[in-house]
Amino acid sequence: MIKKIGILTSGGDSQGMNSAVSGVIKYAQAQGLETYIIKDGYLGLYNNWIEKVDSFFADGIISRGGTAAGSARFPEFQEEEIREKAIKNLKDKKIEALVVIGGDGSYKGAQRLSEMGINCIALPGTIDNDISSSEQTIGFDTALNIIVDSIDRIRDTSQSHSRCTIIEVMGRHCGDLALYGGIAGGADIVSIGGNPLSEEDIIEKVTKLKGIVRSVVVVVSEHLYDSVHELAKKVQEASGFETRASVLGHIQRGGKPTAMDRFRAFTMGIRAVELILDGKSGLALGNVGEEIVDYPILEALEIPRKSRKKLWTQFNNLNIRRIK
Ligand code: ADP
Repeated sequence: MIKKIGILTSGGDSQGMNSAVSGVIKYAQAQGLETYIIKDGYLGLYNNWIEKVDSFFADGIISRGGTAAGSARFPEFQEEEIREKAIKNLKDKKIEALVVIGGDGSYKGAQRLSEMGINCIALPGTIDNDISSSEQTIGFDTALNIIVDSIDRIRDTSQSHSRCTIIEVMGRHCGDLALYGGIAGGADIVSIGGNPLSEEDIIEKVTKLKGIVRSVVVVVSEHLYDSVHELAKKVQEASGFETRASVLGHIQRGGKPTAMDRFRAFTMGIRAVELILDGKSGLALGNVGEEIVDYPILEALEIPRKSRKKLWTQFNNLNIRRIK
């Protein structure tokens, strides 16, 4: 019977990671387990930055943004000897199970640890919504709300000054933050990873809107264009619409998690402990609606992303009549 459980957060932080940690600690403590935080993800596992914590730690963090356990990128964790030292640190403390909260890179680390004898359960902690085994990752809802709020604010001032604004949002190769944010924020044009518009397409669409609307909001995923500031200059020159670029950046990753992110994260934390107590390992948790589901981590990493092309096309064509 497992007596001690470790928890770490890894990769890019996301709102709700703390809520997940809180769920793990509270449920594990209620089951009589000792709970340990590993500071700064796999880096801390390697460096033996392991601290015993109790329910008071969990009480204080459920509503806090960021991750109180800390996070870090530690590419060296791909090396077997590095992982062996990390495992020794756990074994010295008799910690036999680990809950890992992070993105797909962190999942790979958890899979490796499972293969090496540590019972690992992985939770989807990333704002990007790029883990297909979960309908929504922990942090996506909060980041989305920040994006929509930002679009609303930027549109206000774009309206006042009759401007076009290109807003760059996060999401890495996944366009969900841009697509969902653009739709919910009432953007005019959305360009997403997987279905990017060319610079010429954007220029053409904005040029057509000039004289018809007072302001234009274009939402784009990060990494699609060399520089959105340069793109804004090109759009302005070609369309005659005064154009600015706004990169939302890390504000998307900060602040209090929404109620849904907290709820999803906390309940996944409980489920992770339940699975560990059942002797399970190498599983990734996700949600389908309000139901928590689990897949072998390797399978979870292979699930193809749902195509958003139809919705993206429908949305970008909404303006077609007025800009024909
Ligand atoms: P995310 O988890 O948000 O996708 P990263 O891709 O940076 O972020 O991964 C987080 C950490 O997971 C890395 O810094 C590294 O420590 C670990 N990791 C990533 N890929 C692997 C791998 N193939 N094997 C073992 N550990 C890995």
